Amino acid sequence: MPLEIVRNDITRMAVDAIVNAANETLLGGGGVDGAIHRAAGPRLLEECRTLNGCETGQAKITRGYDLPCQYVIHTVGPVWKGGEHGERALLASCYKSALALAKEYRCETVAFPLISTGVYGYPKAEAMQVAVDEISRFLLENDMTVYIVVFTRESVDMAGKLFKEVVAYIDDVYVAEHYEADREARRSARVDRAPANGLFRRPHREDTARNETIFADSAMPAPRANLDEMLAHVDESFSQMLLRKIDEKGITDAECYKRANVDRRLFNKIKNNPAYRPGKQTALAFAIALQLSMRETTELLMKAGYALSHSNKEDIVIEYCILNGNYDLIEINQVLFRLDLQPLGY
Ligand code: ADP
Repeated sequence: MPLEIVRNDITRMAVDAIVNAANETLLGGGGVDGAIHRAAGPRLLEECRTLNGCETGQAKITRGYDLPCQYVIHTVGPVWKGGEHGERALLASCYKSALALAKEYRCETVAFPLISTGVYGYPKAEAMQVAVDEISRFLLENDMTVYIVVFTRESVDMAGKLFKEVVAYIDDVYVAEHYEADREARRSARVDRAPANGLFRRPHREDTARNETIFADSAMPAPRANLDEMLAHVDESFSQMLLRKIDEKGITDAECYKRANVDRRLFNKIKNNPAYRPGKQTALAFAIALQLSMRETTELLMKAGYALSHSNKEDIVIEYCILNGNYDLIEINQVLFRLDLQPLGY
């Protein structure tokens, strides 16, 4: 997945480069800087001494020494002074400079901490927004997997409005369905309410004699002469529907997989193999990227053998976002992350 938010200690990330939230001396400090120097060993400090420091918003690169990564990219975030002192532009510049260096050194995987959000005092939600904006912009033009590594759950207090709405929706839909005392009553009420799509049609009283055949009547296709004939009528596959929808929406393949936060290689695999079955999170990511309606989303998922269910919190989050026209995948992933649910994409 090109952009992923993970909870981890950045010194454990086995990536090509990790980014250090350093200070202007580059000679080590507290927080993530101290942790990186401790894990890398004294040779890191030796190399840092040769760099003559670094200006705020800029970045410099060293080797990773005893760390599991190959490089450390040191960048100096701004100290938060209330937000009116160019902090946002400087923080954005940290991400830009670090990513440019990572690209120059041909890194395929890079991990960032939330720069400036420790002793430098940048508000975490705003810092996360800057990180996501800058990294997303970079990924539109470049192939790389970028991790934002957060240390604690509190670090991810972002996506405030959408998060609160989604939590309220989950309470309505999921909690009600799972913990309501009178479950039986609810179940029959649901059958009553369900759309008349055949599958859940409630029998009329006069139908009683035919009760057992309701599913067969309405949901199953009429029997065909033989299996060969049925196999000759296989429906459009996931891959074919995906490509058709991309054309219908008038977007390019690249726009689609970037919006879906899906790796180009995986997209090509799907594109070149009509029978390819992606994971559910990948299928959903494409539905979001293509801004599909609920009906279209259900259809696309079905092509890959999946369904949306109210027994599953991830599905409820996605349903809420689609019903409310929120197709910002990164924002949706932030909400999923905060809820400890699986993000979309690959
Ligand atoms: P700054 O001086 O730029 O504010 P800090 O190191 O004080 O840098 O904090 C930056 C962020 O890094 C904080 O959100 C902090 O929680 C986080 N952090 C601290 N240690 C680690 C670690 N080992 N891995 C990932 N993140 C960390």
